[in-house]
Amino acid sequence: MKRFAYLENVATLELNRVRCVGCGMCAHICPQQVFLIRERKSEIVERDACMECGACALNCPVDALQVDAGVGCASGIITEWWRERFPGKKGGAASGCC
Ligand code: SF4
Ligand code: SF4
Repeated sequence: MKRFAYLENVATLELNRVRCVGCGMCAHICPQQVFLIRERKSEIVERDACMECGACALNCPVDALQVDAGVGCASGIITEWWRERFPGKKGGAASGCC
């Protein structure tokens, strides 16, 4: 999926590196390549690319990640992706989001 820009310095994503056990799940699951694993710890390397989908926090086994999942924004990104690939077709996420 194309990487979308997000507003600068507004993502609510927080990482507790003390809790992190370096399993790599967040780096594996994030669609925006926000994380890198270095020295057995996760690191946020692209905070502004975070679209607050919440997948990383949901899948972290030790609750080292927190994010206020912005369903409306994720919905808007999916809708934009759909329109680019299928112009003129109805579909994608529900309308009326951000
Ligand atoms: S999913 Fe959680 S424990 Fe695993 S690397 Fe990411 S932050 Fe660390
Ligand atoms: S909330 Fe979604 S986009 Fe943001 S870092 Fe987590 S998985 Fe990546």
